[in-house]
Amino acid sequence: MEHLQQSFTVQYNFNVFFTTALFSVENDLLSSFLSLLNPAKTVKKIFFVVDDGVANAHPELKKQIKNYFSKHHQTQLVQDILVIPGGEAVKNEAKYLDVVLEAVNTHGIDRHSYIAAIGGGALLDMVGYAATIAHRGIRHIRIPTTVLSQNDSGVGVKNGINFFNKKNFLGTFSPPVAVFNDCSFLNTLSDRDWRSGIAEALKIALIKDAEFFDWLEANAKPMVERNMEAMNYQIWKCAKLHMEHIKSGDPFESGSSRPLDFGHWSAHKLEYLSNFEVKHGEAVAMGIALDTVYSNLSGRLSWADSQRVLKLIQALGFELTHRLLQVNEGDSPILDGLEEFREHLGGELTVTLLTGLGSAEEVHKMDSEIIKEAAKFLNQQATRKATS
Ligand code: NAD
Repeated sequence: MEHLQQSFTVQYNFNVFFTTALFSVENDLLSSFLSLLNPAKTVKKIFFVVDDGVANAHPELKKQIKNYFSKHHQTQLVQDILVIPGGEAVKNEAKYLDVVLEAVNTHGIDRHSYIAAIGGGALLDMVGYAATIAHRGIRHIRIPTTVLSQNDSGVGVKNGINFFNKKNFLGTFSPPVAVFNDCSFLNTLSDRDWRSGIAEALKIALIKDAEFFDWLEANAKPMVERNMEAMNYQIWKCAKLHMEHIKSGDPFESGSSRPLDFGHWSAHKLEYLSNFEVKHGEAVAMGIALDTVYSNLSGRLSWADSQRVLKLIQALGFELTHRLLQVNEGDSPILDGLEEFREHLGGELTVTLLTGLGSAEEVHKMDSEIIKEAAKFLNQQATRKATS
């Protein structure tokens, strides 16, 4: 019998908007967007899930959202705005996923309604996951409130939670319908969370854009001093490079290559080993340092360029390394990160290394002796800085 064959393409479109005071009633960006998506003017609901770190830092937020939708009432606000913990706990503890799913059920959120998540990357990952599994996919809107989620995680296509003690073990590739980056949320970030996201900008500059690397070098000081103009440019540029990469590459990662995960194989493992004491962006900065020195020691990157990277990491206020990144004799748990990284990508191990500032190549094998040497070198350089 002849076999049957089918092939189809699904088109995804989403915009990332940049604004301030998204829920000010005079700001019609969100309401105009929702109207555009609803030309037939049917009744659609919008259900908000808010990161408690954001809710605590912005106590007026719930009231502002309610006020906004009382003025812009073409979309029906679910009055019960759900506030749940932000940070990695929301991805580690499945009970929070259950709470969101329960609310979807209770409030009758259907596939033509919206779930809007306001928060850091962790909350957005979890709520995005809940949205994409409930009813096989409810439209989700992301309103990222950290630097990392505005420049990187919130503008991508991935959702997920941690499971079996592995980062993002459960998850989906499913883009949001829109992302609204509101810089007024950033003022209340702790210094650590303000800085953390800059690591993702450094990552994308190193693998793709030498000019952006120069810009980061020249603007490290204003960014660290919390200059909003510098930070906004960094977020915009990083989000743009990230989105261009997703479009030109392999958005749903069907191959084994994942250049946007430069520096991440050790970072993900370090987050776990430190019991999330080390934040994602901080771990990424250390992972970048490790793979940069590895790139130098393995003859790919010049000494001068590798030193520029390390200097910039320190100028941005990051640590270069962590005791848990050291490779000792015998089993070193950090090395398990390589196999876990491979398993998560599927297929052959593929790690991105630097060949210059703004250029990279993929390798399929990492030498544990060179990793050990790189980690040791970073430890010495960090100690020298601490004692100088
Ligand atoms: P986070 O989500 O852990 O948030 C950090 C802390 O900041 C939390 O305590 C949160 O409550 C608080 N917070 C958030 N916004 C705030 C605000 N405006 N004011 C005050 N406090 C605020 O940190 P993150 O760096 O945004 O995200 C890290 C997560 O993102 C990790 O789980 C990581 O795996 C994930 N990530 C996902 C992708 C992806 O493609 N989906 C990419 C990179 C990272």
